[in-house]
Amino acid sequence: KTDSSQPTKTANDKLLDGLLFPGFDDRSCLSRYRSFLYRKASQHKPSSYLLLKLRKYEDLHKRCGPYTRSYDKTLKRLKSNHTSSSSGCNYIVWLGSNGMGNRIISMASAFLYALLTNRVLLVDHGTDMTHLFCEPFPNTSWVLPMDFPMKKQFHALKLRHDRFRDISEKSPPSFVYFNIPHGTYDFDELFLCDNSRALLEKVPWFLLSSDQYLAPAFFLSPTFKQEVSKLFPEKETIFHHLGRYLFHPSNQAWGVITKFYQANLAKAEQRIGLQIRIFSRRTSPFEVVMDQILSCMLKNKLLPEVDTQNSVRSPPENRPSKAILITSLFSEYYENMSALYQSKPTVTGEVIRVYQPSHEEYQHKSDNMHNMKAWAEIYLLSLSDVLITSAGSTFGYVAQGLGGLKPWILIRPKNKMVPDPPCRRDKSMDPCFHYAPKYECKAKHKTDFGTLVPYIRHCADRQTGVKLF
Ligand code: GDP
Repeated sequence: KTDSSQPTKTANDKLLDGLLFPGFDDRSCLSRYRSFLYRKASQHKPSSYLLLKLRKYEDLHKRCGPYTRSYDKTLKRLKSNHTSSSSGCNYIVWLGSNGMGNRIISMASAFLYALLTNRVLLVDHGTDMTHLFCEPFPNTSWVLPMDFPMKKQFHALKLRHDRFRDISEKSPPSFVYFNIPHGTYDFDELFLCDNSRALLEKVPWFLLSSDQYLAPAFFLSPTFKQEVSKLFPEKETIFHHLGRYLFHPSNQAWGVITKFYQANLAKAEQRIGLQIRIFSRRTSPFEVVMDQILSCMLKNKLLPEVDTQNSVRSPPENRPSKAILITSLFSEYYENMSALYQSKPTVTGEVIRVYQPSHEEYQHKSDNMHNMKAWAEIYLLSLSDVLITSAGSTFGYVAQGLGGLKPWILIRPKNKMVPDPPCRRDKSMDPCFHYAPKYECKAKHKTDFGTLVPYIRHCADRQTGVKLF
């Protein structure tokens, strides 16, 4: 009996259960319709309401995208700073800062905000994020045009949030620049509380500079809460769905990813992603972190012990194998681990192979190739069957979200000691918002949002943050 559901099943897999628009030109973005060949099918279906909303958004973006009549018209309002006649298009312009992980989670947040407020998302990828991603929306572009009037001033803009406080209902400004500087996120009331949110609706250009994952905050706004719950009945899947919808590696990045995957990871029976992010070499010295990693992996049976008694190996062809993909700025973890598993057989007879695509030594600033490598490695990690990440790293968050994986988190060492337990299994795949909102709009006072509702909790890897469950 032939299975007549087969072709439709493949089509469905290819479009990620309807997340992806089917009519893109395949060659301009090879990764878009091929990710399903590398990643296990998601266990989480997007809601039909989300799919509807995405198709509607695509229409809006096409109508309002760069150089359309509506765009030109709204741009004129920016230049003349008057807000009278409306073109029916409002925008959110995303400006990035920090590393790739931070940028990707904050771009996804900006898109969620766009969906919730019917704005059009335009992204400024500057000079160091060019050719990393494909266009996510059909027949248009999400890239902020080079000739956008304020582009050269972005970094000098002093307007920041005080501009926001000045919004007058009678003559709203044509733009608001909202900068959430790293580490000082305490302006939530400004765009989450109902009265300021309503004012913002009248402002056609909303420029947002942030490096955080804001999704949990939208559940705290009385207005957004309903809509975002309807879009995502399974709350922890927000980044999982939006990330797979938005972020497709460019052909160049896809070349790097698939080449590495085919050469090293494809044949393994199990792929283990191990992301080692060292925020301080002083508090996390190599020996401590190495001990921590091995202790985490052995205790939780993610890796077999090496056989210290026996050095005879059975022929390699018949033995099951695991591939460990290490990503780190440094090469010493890779060297240590591959030496360990090369020198001796394992007690289970499994063959363990260790790989690391690059070791960049430090985070380069404004370097397109460096960012390309980071993006490729994040994506490769997301293709793992099992994922181990470092606490507090947004690089790991993106990998876990794209892969739909609940990672084992390596707790950050204190006092140069291996933490006990060395790692903890995360309960949700969604990224952590590092700076939990504190301000409750209605009550007009500060609240601990990690205890208010059952689906928002403090993050296991970062007490000050909150995440969705
Ligand atoms: P976070 O700082 O860990 O939250 O992650 P980010 O991605 O925002 O910033 C870290 C940046 O450092 C990355 O974007 C890379 O530029 C670099 N980096 C850190 N770890 C790695 C790694 O394992 N591989 C590569 N290629 N780059 C890394």
